[in-house]
Amino acid sequence: MGDVVIVGAGQAGLQAAISLREEGFSGRIRLIGDEAALPYQRPPLSKAFLTGDAGEANLVLRPQALLDKAEIEFVAGARVDGIDRGDARIAVGKDRIAYDHLILATGSRNRHLEVTSADADGVMSLRGLADARQLKARLGEARRIAIIGAGFIGLEFAGVAAKLGREVRVVELAPRAMARAVSEQVSAHCEARHASWGTRFAFGAGVVDVEQAGGKARGVRLADGEVIPADLIVVGIGAMANAELAADAGLVTGNGIVVDALLRTEDHAISAIGDCAFHPNAFAGGPVRLESVQNAIDQGRSVAARLAGRPKPYHAVPWFWSDQGDMKIQMAGLTAARDHVVQRGDPSEGRFSVFCFRDGLLLGVESVNRPADHMLARRVLATGRKWTLADVEAFDFDLKAMTAEPARAADA
Ligand SMILES: Cc1cc2nc3c(=O)[nH]c(=O)nc-3n(C[C@H](O)[C@H](O)[C@H](O)COP(=O)(O)OP(=O)(O)OC[C@H]3O[C@@H](n4cnc5c(N)ncnc54)[C@H](O)[C@@H]3O)c2cc1C
Repeated sequence: MGDVVIVGAGQAGLQAAISLREEGFSGRIRLIGDEAALPYQRPPLSKAFLTGDAGEANLVLRPQALLDKAEIEFVAGARVDGIDRGDARIAVGKDRIAYDHLILATGSRNRHLEVTSADADGVMSLRGLADARQLKARLGEARRIAIIGAGFIGLEFAGVAAKLGREVRVVELAPRAMARAVSEQVSAHCEARHASWGTRFAFGAGVVDVEQAGGKARGVRLADGEVIPADLIVVGIGAMANAELAADAGLVTGNGIVVDALLRTEDHAISAIGDCAFHPNAFAGGPVRLESVQNAIDQGRSVAARLAGRPKPYHAVPWFWSDQGDMKIQMAGLTAARDHVVQRGDPSEGRFSVFCFRDGLLLGVESVNRPADHMLARRVLATGRKWTLADVEAFDFDLKAMTAEPARAADA
């Protein structure tokens, strides 16, 4: 393998570059990103960065000196405009860069709110460092905040804003918080915690308009006519893959760039990883696109191992976390398809876990302030065993025992 070019210098792209070196890859590695900053982590942008507990320096994933030492050629502020697959070159402005293998790690971008005046001053969303800087400044001045979307980013922001004493309203089309990602039990608990901090929710509520005066946002109008006054409006209505570069090059895309179990597009000289990759995932029971640090890191490692001559189908346990106020919410596995849940721990004490099953098989475990459960659940899922409800009951839902004695479940 000769030269590897990586498009997108985020969590996945950087990881692929580092892992290539760790795997002993000796060819040239170029990591090309369109943002100005060194590769940085996004999770603190909606958490510690806003509260001031983490500064910009804390976000950087690897200092330049370490990139230099690993001979990773990092090119900042450069947008890749096209891929010429016939010639195995990418276009960056007028430059053409040849690759032997190309890794697309272009991430995802926020969905845009498609209503009148959605671009008024004071309507913001959060994806990158530039957004977070602006949002932090606005948060200092704002009094009344409307958050559109009760997903992870919206609710993390709500937790921070409420703690700062702001008046917070959250508007959500779905009937409950984080509906696509967590069980009813976790939603209900989180909604109650946020409400206890003064945040008010409107569920099943669509935004039809942003109210503005002189170009400045004044509030959001809901489908039922209610206007929620706000001087800061934060839109968190989900994200979509940055897949256009691949699509324009004739690669198959859908909900992301379509890849196989080895994370290759149908052009085997091109891989896709991280938020942009629509990949087969045993834990999802089919192809899926995941937006998580875990997925970005593990896919970066996986593609690097393959390019270094050690191919292995991607099979990492999906996991995710979200910090909201005093809640650490953690998910191991993918639980959306659950048809049965068993709760352990006491929500009234603020700590519990929800075991999620489908057709009698364990899909995953969602935890609130039970980090040990989360870590153990990841180990349980990583055993590769199909854990039945009967198995888990036989262990009395003791995850530690399940990791220590996996053979017992097999015999049960
Ligand atoms: C505010 C926020 C909070 C989050 N919190 C959590 C959390 O708590 N836990 C968790 O697990 N995950 C969290 N995530 C998700 C996590 O950060 C992402 O899943 C992860 O960053 C994905 O990594 P990636 O490398 O695929 O994409 P990214 O990190 O988005 O990197 C992609 C990079 O490619 C660049 N790019 C795109 N197109 C081009 C092009 N044509 N040319 C050059 N460069 C290009 C983009 O600008 C970007 O810099 C959060 C995300 C956000 C935005």
